[in-house]
Amino acid sequence: MSRVDLPPRPAPLPGPVVDSHCHLDVTAEHSGLDPADAVTAAAAVGVTRIVQIGCDVAGSRWAVAAAQRWLSIVAGVAIHPNDAARLGPDLPEALAAIESLVPHPRVRAVGETGLDYYRTRDAAGQEWQREAFAAHIGWAAAYDKTLVIHDRDAHADVLAVLDHQGPPPRIVMHCFSGDFDFARACLERGAYLSFAGTVTFKNNGSLRSALAVTPLDRILVETDAPYLTPMPYRGRPNASYLIPHTARFMAETLGVDLAVLSQALNDNAEAAFGGSW
Ligand SMILES: [Zn+2]
Ligand SMILES: [Zn+2]
Repeated sequence: MSRVDLPPRPAPLPGPVVDSHCHLDVTAEHSGLDPADAVTAAAAVGVTRIVQIGCDVAGSRWAVAAAQRWLSIVAGVAIHPNDAARLGPDLPEALAAIESLVPHPRVRAVGETGLDYYRTRDAAGQEWQREAFAAHIGWAAAYDKTLVIHDRDAHADVLAVLDHQGPPPRIVMHCFSGDFDFARACLERGAYLSFAGTVTFKNNGSLRSALAVTPLDRILVETDAPYLTPMPYRGRPNASYLIPHTARFMAETLGVDLAVLSQALNDNAEAAFGGSW
């Protein structure tokens, strides 16, 4: 560990698990944890594979390069909804650059895309987000990639855009943040629900009720590192090697054996992201 504020390494999981959503490049900037060290530390506790997610053109190219360097990593490419809003009139050029990356064999996901009405509050910015989201949905279908959705305070519009475009075959709701009803609406559309460290936060009872209604074969786990560090290390930098905290908490919440949950999380990630890697 290259920085003192990184939490200590937890006990390993009983079987391999995939971190379904991670930003190794942002983590390196945020906490000084080198990507190679992050991959090694994760594998040492059973987090043997990672989906590295891009949020802009440079980050998406970085994700593809990481997936070429490490066989344990596959990439997601996208313009993040808040970046889409920021780009505004420059969005089409950025979208074209992302589309050129989508067919790459190491790219399994189109995302993170979606809507973020928490950070982007102006109508024009939200309109750019919907336009970008629609384009990403189209690529996921056209290139047979998994759609990774970022949804913050925009549940109804996420479903509206998805239904208007037609849901692609594989959808992951990353850092699922809805309640029981929204979970069911996403599951009805075939989505996998990916749970982050937020599920361990004390005030998130409605999220735990969503977890409770999600079938075991539709659950994923993620870090969204360097953000959303699980309890008891909330507020400190996150990394894939901390997944065991979230997975243990989820197993307890669900009342299933950790080994059973680990196996499911591993199998589900392969199903969600188009097969083994
Ligand atoms: Zn996100
Ligand atoms: Zn993310």
